[in-house]
Amino acid sequence: MNYKDYIRVIEDFPQPGISFKDITTLLNNGPVYQAVINELAQSLKGREIDAIAGPEARGFVIGAPLAVALGIGFVPIRKSGKLPGATIEADYALEYGKDKLAMHDDAIKPGQKVLIADDLLATGGTIATSINLVKQLGGKVVGAAFLIELMDLNGRDKLNGIDVISLVKY
Ligand code: IMP
Repeated sequence: MNYKDYIRVIEDFPQPGISFKDITTLLNNGPVYQAVINELAQSLKGREIDAIAGPEARGFVIGAPLAVALGIGFVPIRKSGKLPGATIEADYALEYGKDKLAMHDDAIKPGQKVLIADDLLATGGTIATSINLVKQLGGKVVGAAFLIELMDLNGRDKLNGIDVISLVKY
């Protein structure tokens, strides 16, 4: 299946010069969304993974169904101030902005093997920060999975050799 046929590209959003990959058009198609999750789950088969962590908001729409498909737990990574319990935080810079990400301080147990999931790998800043949070809690990041990878931005280089899976490359 060519997933690109279902991803809408919107130029100059949210800022001039950004070519935004809009996955809402893919998510809106049940069989295609299911194929994405099935393909990611298939490519992770046989790997030892205890939990999936995903950054808001689009990391939830890939990470949570993937966790269900694999029968493991999902850990939300959120913008600062959104999680109700005690949190740890880390700064991050986006392709088009800056913020802080947070995780509950008991979300991951030391030694747990964690896969990070998001819709899209751009500069790698979001995932590098997510990895930082998992490591702060003593978790071991065993890989990162994405629907889309923007190859020109070399996000993989920021991830210190962590195994990266992506289904669609631009
Ligand atoms: P990075 O931190 O530069 O790798 O940017 C990745 C993050 O920004 C992900 O959480 C994406 O959801 C979001 N993002 C950046 N560019 C796009 C895009 O073109 N489409 C959808 N999300 C994007």
